[in-house]
Amino acid sequence: MGQGRCRYCQKLFQPSKFQPRQAVCIESGCQRRRRTDYHKEKIASDPEYREGCRDSPRKWRTRNPDYWKQYRLKHPASVENNRRQQKLRDQKRKLCNLANNTSALDLKHSIAEVWLTGPGAEHLANNTLAAAQVWVIQTLTPGRVPVLPSCKQHLSGQAADSGP
Ligand SMILES: [Zn+2]
Repeated sequence: MGQGRCRYCQKLFQPSKFQPRQAVCIESGCQRRRRTDYHKEKIASDPEYREGCRDSPRKWRTRNPDYWKQYRLKHPASVENNRRQQKLRDQKRKLCNLANNTSALDLKHSIAEVWLTGPGAEHLANNTLAAAQVWVIQTLTPGRVPVLPSCKQHLSGQAADSGP
């Protein structure tokens, strides 16, 4: 097996038997230069490769650290929109956490019917998060709920033992 001379450090080296045409020795510095040169050459000659590099978000952010700062300054409306979206995602996560929360008892067995009316209802089929809040508040002793007279008309079922 013949020896090769490294393209970068000019030292003689033994090419790998898997890569007989190897032109660069295995020193890390030379390998790094080889990758850098390969990258430059590919970017210059291969549009698809160039596109791929441009699409790598992490590299892109490293090259443009101030981009989002500038973007936020120029597009305040979009920033506000993102903030709203993030708030929705946070609410959704909170709801998911609540469903896994063992300190809430028997929420599944609620007999309540929940109706959503208004303009939001037509989007409900496409919307995994209905913009509504249901507060479940622990009662006092069951069956002995203190009821103010003005609230009686809202009661139904078992709690309305002195019904209308
Ligand atoms: Zn070398």
